Amino acid sequence: RTRARWVCWSDGPEDLDRGLLMREDSFAAEVASGLKRGEFELYYQPQLEIGSGRLRGFEALVRWHRRGVLVQPADFIPQIESSGLSDMLDNWVLRTACEQLAAWSRQGVHCAQVAVNLSAAQLHGELPATVGRLLRETGVDPRRLEIELTESVEIAHPDEAVEITRQLNEMGVGFSLDDFGSGYSNFLRLRSAQFGAVKLDRCFVSGVLYNDYDREMLRTVIQFCRSVGMETIAEGVETPEQLEALREMGCDAWQGFLCAAPMPVEAATEFLRTGWERANASS
Ligand code: C2E
Ligand code: MG
Ligand code: MG
Ligand code: MG
Repeated sequence: RTRARWVCWSDGPEDLDRGLLMREDSFAAEVASGLKRGEFELYYQPQLEIGSGRLRGFEALVRWHRRGVLVQPADFIPQIESSGLSDMLDNWVLRTACEQLAAWSRQGVHCAQVAVNLSAAQLHGELPATVGRLLRETGVDPRRLEIELTESVEIAHPDEAVEITRQLNEMGVGFSLDDFGSGYSNFLRLRSAQFGAVKLDRCFVSGVLYNDYDREMLRTVIQFCRSVGMETIAEGVETPEQLEALREMGCDAWQGFLCAAPMPVEAATEFLRTGWERANASS
């Protein structure tokens, strides 16, 4: 809105309204038609259990083939959120993830669960009903869906958000607290019982070997989570040394380039198949 005020001073309020509306309308139209035309795609990144090495599941991460260019979420999610289009995208992400879980089941490839990212700021009362309907329509077990929430923006209605997560928890849908340790996360959030897992931010993980403060902070958070029964998942693990340090601290699961970058569904399906074969061969 800062930019809008600046335009206002130079062009007058009427031009501002028209210009802003047009800009937002055309972005909304582009997102809507992009969703319809299949320009959006979910990539999948494996999450592995540290102890057993087994696949915990995938995190689904959205990509946009916008005018023929592959665009990363950092370059369009903020505008989607500020334009009030989160619902539209969230619904598509939830539906696509559920349909993919159902498709994998039909194909006989085992994928325990998929985690999707939703903006915590956008949680609203219709979410439990929407998710419930999608799960029924696709026949997917709610325990196979996890929702990652991050606090990049302040939550508008914290009480409502707690109620919504409670309802979804009751249905069997799990939650994880994303980006813990990044500038936006709040230690207080760990007090609420709604999160089954805490995702330790990449900035911590990258400091684990060289920064005493990061290492002790991680150790403390992992111990705390363990003692209250919350799972810990390390994000952005890139080296075997980082993985070893996390294992030694008792971290439960990890994801990162050391295993695989987020990949299109065909590669993810191949990953599931190969993992299955390997598991069978070694037993
Ligand atoms: P996030 O949920 O914390 O996702 C982790 C990000 O770290 C992903 O970036 C992933 O590609 C990247 N990453 C994974 N392993 C490594 C690693 O070893 N090293 C490094 N350097 N990076 C790694 P991506 O896919 O660009 O997503 C960025 C953020 O955009 C996500 O952070 C999430 O907050 C948001 N996002 C992604 N997909 C969605 C979506 O469908 N809906 C919403 N609302 N937000 C999304
Ligand atoms: Mg995430
Ligand atoms: Mg689960
Ligand atoms: Mg994260």
